[in-house]
Amino acid sequence: MRPRGALARAALALAAGLALAGGMRALRPVPDVSESLYLFGTMVEIEIHGAEAAKARAAIAAVDAHLEKLHHDWHAWRPGELESLNAAIAAGESFTVDAPMAAVLAQGKALSCASDGLFDPAIGALVEAWGFHADTLPEGDPPSGGEIARLVAAHPRMTDLKIAGQEVRSTNPAVQLDLGAYAKGAALDLAEADLRAAGITDAVLNAGGGVQVMGSHGARPWRVAIRDPFAWGVVAALELRPGEALHTSGNYERYLDAGGVRFSHILDPRTGRPVTDIVSVSVLAQNGALADAAATALSVAGLADWPRIAAGMGVENVLMITGEGKMVATPAMRARLTPVGDDFPAPIRLVDLPAVSAPRCD
Ligand code: AMP
Ligand code: MG
Repeated sequence: MRPRGALARAALALAAGLALAGGMRALRPVPDVSESLYLFGTMVEIEIHGAEAAKARAAIAAVDAHLEKLHHDWHAWRPGELESLNAAIAAGESFTVDAPMAAVLAQGKALSCASDGLFDPAIGALVEAWGFHADTLPEGDPPSGGEIARLVAAHPRMTDLKIAGQEVRSTNPAVQLDLGAYAKGAALDLAEADLRAAGITDAVLNAGGGVQVMGSHGARPWRVAIRDPFAWGVVAALELRPGEALHTSGNYERYLDAGGVRFSHILDPRTGRPVTDIVSVSVLAQNGALADAAATALSVAGLADWPRIAAGMGVENVLMITGEGKMVATPAMRARLTPVGDDFPAPIRLVDLPAVSAPRCD
């Protein structure tokens, strides 16, 4: 909110006074530095608090270059490292990747295992068949039942991937990697590390559906909001603690409209078909890749099964919105949410997570 009237004038006078009084200049807070970058096919906004402008801009430039490289390396359908790996897998060959790629693949494999395969970046061929791989929204008809059945029967699984150091191979040539469901979260984790290495302590990184914070905004925490999947607006706000990441998977982001039906871009690896009854899942966690992967996995799990998958993935803060507008959340998440208007758009039903042991994969 912008300060107005007498208060605003007083604030201006105070700022001017401090600026003019040489001896007090050190007390004057440095203004926030924010920049919007177009990266990963989305706008990435970075806001840095409490750092000199030159230092903040140099840090943002480093993040920009890094994310640009990751977008290139991690793109499954444009010439680059991942596309080459996918070609090698299809040919039954092993392929040597660089260390960051080996790390993100190992992370994806572990997250896929923890999600009981509901988050599975090995289903790239299904994603492509539905047309969700392109930069533009897909058009035309959905793939035929026969094609879907053939792709599902090939059972591509992230756990087919064997990663030995930087050498990667798959025991199943049907594996085609698409990192789209956790790339943003993983990239924001790396961007956060870049900012830290550049001496930044307080920042917020926001990339369409994913937001991650470092430190605070001075005396107050960083405050963010969760988008309303049905209307232009937000369903709730929350304050993020240092190091937290909040990711939302929503079927409003990418979809296929065909024959009066809207097909979500999130696919159930078990059926090869889009998720139908869930419109948005938000996960708050200490790690971007985990929050992003879990938001996708819980969308697939749906209303009946999400608590089991959340527990297996070790995430405690979840908000789900169904196609009917029902809101469900874990008690831990509910305790963090505040309504933005008078109240939440619907009552939030609380669901406790079961005690489950995390799935084991090799
Ligand atoms: P997100 O918006 O994070 O939920 O990611 C969705 C994107 O991940 C889709 O556009 C696909 O590229 C890919 N995807 C869809 N379904 C899955 C799934 N079950 N597991 C992994 N990746 C998926
Ligand atoms: Mg995701």
